[in-house]
Amino acid sequence: MSKDLRANIRTIADYPRPGILFRDITTLLGDAAAFRQAVDDLVRPWTGARIGKVAGIEARGFILGGAVAHQLSAGFVPIRKKGKLPSATVSVAYSLEYGLDEMEMHRDAVRPGERVILIDDLIATGGTATGAVQLLQQLGAEVIAACFVIDLPALGGVRKIEALGVPVRTLVAFEGH
Ligand code: AMP
Repeated sequence: MSKDLRANIRTIADYPRPGILFRDITTLLGDAAAFRQAVDDLVRPWTGARIGKVAGIEARGFILGGAVAHQLSAGFVPIRKKGKLPSATVSVAYSLEYGLDEMEMHRDAVRPGERVILIDDLIATGGTATGAVQLLQQLGAEVIAACFVIDLPALGGVRKIEALGVPVRTLVAFEGH
């Protein structure tokens, strides 16, 4: 039976700052049936789609992306905060709510023309995912889709990624931010 994944996502008010409703997926990850369903729902459109790599955004995108990559028999690529990857990297600045940060990927993590899907737990303003798409495209990857468990539609991130020519798939939405 299909579960309502929203019921497995815990909301913490005023974390990490006053006014933010933090959508906590640790409760979803800790529920065997919900975790399996989230991964199955993320994977479903791409079965047989010749996906070469799944790229996950640190840190929650690693948990979901690793499981998705396994199920698609694809490789996994970590997109990490600056300074964490040991070999030669490409980097991009991306916008946070206040200011900028940098994320990195190994230069040899994807091949030109390789078919990649991007995974993270949640899309809000789309700033983080935009940076990740730019890194992958800079290395010549074909970004087939960006996939998230949670969309916060009020913040407009999905439109931002679609404007880069990348289709977006999300599983559940929460109003507000
Ligand atoms: P954004 O770059 O604005 O799309 O933010 C997305 C990134 O920030 C993701 O990696 C999320 O895990 C995290 N994030 C942003 N807003 C929230 C929220 N309300 N609850 C949980 N995580 C969030």
